[in-house]
Amino acid sequence: KELTDINKLADEYLRLAYHGLRAKDKSFNAELITDFDKSIGLVNVIPQDIGRVILNLITNAFYAVDEKKKSGIKKYEPTVSVSTKQLKNQIIISVKDNGNGIPKHILDKIFQPFFTTKPTGQGTGLGLSMSYDIITKGHGGELKVQTEEGKGTTFSIVLTNTTT
Ligand code: ADP
Ligand code: MG
Repeated sequence: KELTDINKLADEYLRLAYHGLRAKDKSFNAELITDFDKSIGLVNVIPQDIGRVILNLITNAFYAVDEKKKSGIKKYEPTVSVSTKQLKNQIIISVKDNGNGIPKHILDKIFQPFFTTKPTGQGTGLGLSMSYDIITKGHGGELKVQTEEGKGTTFSIVLTNTTT
């Protein structure tokens, strides 16, 4: 673990995810909103691992908004927001999308290895299970999900900052 600028990390991986998708699919487009809490100090994490989790969450969020856009509904603006916040000694990194949300009957399966609703070749079903392990086992944190069918999903990484 090393002392890490979480805002910088989140910003880097957001760009990485966005440009990665744009390179594969020129028509991909989504509004990106960032809201970084500048008062967050350095946080003791494994930066590559937290970066990978952020990348997984953002990639899922982009996929969700893209699916909804391709379903052809009118007046839809795909939007993905990434925010960081420090609350007492907790650091919260959230990735929010206005996609179609996660149906209730699959919500308890999404963190299982190899669970995917994506067509063959588009998803391994490993992103969330790996992310869950990195956050809980690797960092003693929590990975939470809030979702509303038809409206969107927010994943939140909750870490306890032991350095401040
Ligand atoms: P993969 O992306 O390869 O399918 P993940 O472990 O990242 O695997 O996600 C598992 C499943 O959880 C996805 O196939 C999808 O059904 C659901 N999911 C994850 N993130 C979102 C999201 N932001 N919006 C809607 N569904 C999601
Ligand atoms: Mg994924």
